[in-house]
Amino acid sequence: MEMNQVYNFNAGPAGLPGEVMHQVQEELLDLQGTGLSVLEISHRSKEYEQINDETQQLLKELLHIPSSYEVMFMQGGASTQFAMVPMNFLTAGHVASYIHSGTWSGKAIAEARKMGDTAIAASSEAEHFTKVPDLQGMMLHPETAYVHLTSNETIAGTQYRNFADPGEVPLIADMSSDILSRPVDVSNFALIYAGAQKNLGPSGVTVVIANRELLSRIPANIPDIMNYRIHANSRSLYNTPPVFAVYMVNLVLKWIRNNGGVKGMERRNRLKADLLYSTIDHSGGFYDGLAHKDSRSLMNATFRVMNDELELRFLQEAEQNGFVGLRGHRDAGHLRASIYNAVTYEQCKALADFMVDFQRRFG
Ligand code: PLP
Repeated sequence: MEMNQVYNFNAGPAGLPGEVMHQVQEELLDLQGTGLSVLEISHRSKEYEQINDETQQLLKELLHIPSSYEVMFMQGGASTQFAMVPMNFLTAGHVASYIHSGTWSGKAIAEARKMGDTAIAASSEAEHFTKVPDLQGMMLHPETAYVHLTSNETIAGTQYRNFADPGEVPLIADMSSDILSRPVDVSNFALIYAGAQKNLGPSGVTVVIANRELLSRIPANIPDIMNYRIHANSRSLYNTPPVFAVYMVNLVLKWIRNNGGVKGMERRNRLKADLLYSTIDHSGGFYDGLAHKDSRSLMNATFRVMNDELELRFLQEAEQNGFVGLRGHRDAGHLRASIYNAVTYEQCKALADFMVDFQRRFG
């Protein structure tokens, strides 16, 4: 059956590399000669243990994760991390400091407030989250338990270029929408978490990278399933893991490795984002970016068309031409092209060409 050409710009779950999808299809009924599907194997089998260990190892290699860190595969999405972080690390007498950069940091803050004292160390709310908050002016309480930030705000389309060093205070980052899109110095962070469904694989697994020293501070009264140390000590096999999702993360990580690693991803992502943003910037105001130029995300390009009527028409025509997922999130409205690692330059070129043609016809 011929499949229609689709350009997937969804924000997540997002498109996966074509090669990976083909491999999954080939191996689905018989994983490495076992005669069993990866959907059917036991998480206690040697085949799955190998996938689990290898996937952790691949992440360590790709992100140059120091040996003093644990890599965990968890469930419940990044939203569960919003609750687990304060549950594990916001102890009495301490304050959790949050950088408020948009919808996702807002959800993390709301969960922390249920658990203890919180402070907003920096915020761009006054600018309607069109830029990332300046970390240089960050004000920290002397009893700060940790600082939490969102490296890429998926909805606003903003992203940090650099991260401040909070010194002795543990820095915790939600990297759900830009993990593995560029090199980061993991040693600057005490804990990083990321839902898989953008750059890592399908939804259902969340990757957590945590400094062992931080894990040693977790109080004993945290329920086991919510306790990072329990997951780390049981090598992410405390309970039944999402085996299929981890298997797919394994394949995606190999695909990243074969395509130049995170540096290769960064090069590709920069070219893709430059193409879309320059199309916006050269449109003479027909298109306009929603984020400040120095905060623009390489993963989620948010923009608008000069009036609402034309914007609606743009969306309708885009859909008819096979471009899916361009409608902005309801919090930000307008348009958003999510251009995660698996989106190709050619797909971005097709969108840029469509934008130029649409402007030629209606501008
Ligand atoms: N954090 C960020 C930056 C996100 O983009 C998302 C989802 O898009 C989440 C957290 C929530 O992730 P989940 O749906 O896996 O809970």
